[in-house]
Order: sequence, then structure tokens, then C-alpha cells
Amino acid sequence: MGKEIICKSCGASFDEALVRCPYCGSGHLPAEENEHMQNLEDIRQDLQEYEKENVKKPGKKLAAALLIALLVIAAIVWFVVSGIWSASSRERDKSEQRKDDFLKNQGISTQVEESNR
Ligand SMILES: [Zn+2]
Repeated sequence: MGKEIICKSCGASFDEALVRCPYCGSGHLPAEENEHMQNLEDIRQDLQEYEKENVKKPGKKLAAALLIALLVIAAIVWFVVSGIWSASSRERDKSEQRKDDFLKNQGISTQVEESNR
């Protein structure tokens, strides 16, 4: 229990922790302020607990971030692989074309041979 204070309205003494005078009901400012500050402190502690919970359990956020990262990596891999595939197939077409040109220049084109049969 805190010290007794004198009510400004009725002159009765009551515990300073009380928000209102128990005799006349008039507000006791320091206690009201304390109560208000206590409420603010409770809210602040709730927020801290909430933040702690979020730090402790990043579960959903982390899973979402990992999923996004995985999708990005999959997309990059797909682009790279399809790029290599199309590039190598283009390269194969080019070398086939070069081989055909070479064979034509040598007079032994596969197409000519086929038409001669
Ligand atoms: Zn009073």
C-alpha cells in the first residue's frame, strides 16, 4: 500500500494508488495518470511479446520467402536450361548445315545421292 493522500474535493484521506476518492468519487490525477501509464506499459509489453513471437516463429513468413526463392530459382534454371537447349539445337542445326554445305562442295550431297537412286 502506498501513502495516504488528502482528497482535494472532500478532504478525506485515501490510498494514493486509488484512481478516485472512495468518499466523493472525484478523480485523483496522479493515480489516473499511473493507471493510464500502466495501460500504455501493458500495450507496449504486448507489442514486445508480439514482436518476440514473430522473431521466434518466423514459420509462415520464412516458408513464403523460401517458396518464392524456390520459384525464382526454378524459373532461372528453366530459362537457363531452355536457353542452353535451344542454343545447342541451333548450334547442331548450324553444324548440320555446314556439313551439308561441305558435302555439296565435295559433290557428294546426301540429297543428290538420294535423287540419283
Ligand atoms: Zn473526496
